[in-house]
Amino acid sequence: MFKSFAVALLSVAIAVTTVSAAEDDVKTWTDAQVDDLVKLYQHFHTHPELSFEEKATAARLAEELKAVGAEVETGVGGHGVVAILKNGDGPTVMMRTDLDALPVVEATELSYASKVTTKNDTGDEVGVMHACGHDIHITNLIGVARYMASHRDDWQGTLVMIGQPAEEKGAGAKAMIEDGLFKRFPRPDYAVALHVDSFLETGKIGYRS
Ligand SMILES: [Zn+2]
Repeated sequence: MFKSFAVALLSVAIAVTTVSAAEDDVKTWTDAQVDDLVKLYQHFHTHPELSFEEKATAARLAEELKAVGAEVETGVGGHGVVAILKNGDGPTVMMRTDLDALPVVEATELSYASKVTTKNDTGDEVGVMHACGHDIHITNLIGVARYMASHRDDWQGTLVMIGQPAEEKGAGAKAMIEDGLFKRFPRPDYAVALHVDSFLETGKIGYRS
């Protein structure tokens, strides 16, 4: 999985980088960063939060994006996060991660498995797990943000990085838009979102418009 994780990170970084020769550099950089990013992924995996409750997840994402020098706004449409990284004239590219986990009991027995339980909407005790990979998506966005912030000579424009709450319930995107996502922040010319896919072999990437 960690190999596919690195490949996914690579693909997003390449997609928003204007210099084609950047591929080798992205790989070198990713190889050097991947251990740290995997630790970050494990942190998110161990601490999942259900839809509308992504408080700590959003706070950590905001902290990581501030650390790369982005202007960060929290509380957009609930626990939504918007981070802007400006780098001169050029297109505005939005990159999005979802933030929420699912009411699933983790049975993987991994050392960093989630032991979190909470009450669901009907008051029943449920397990909480990043069973849909949003922990990977969050970590990818942070990795891409770190790469872009440290390679400003390779690109020009504005990056809008968003943490979307309540994706599983289909309500978080709407809440962010209603809270002025495209009015209060730069409106993107392009938007990229990533989702892990257990039907694709390790090392392969699928894409669609
Ligand atoms: Zn998902």
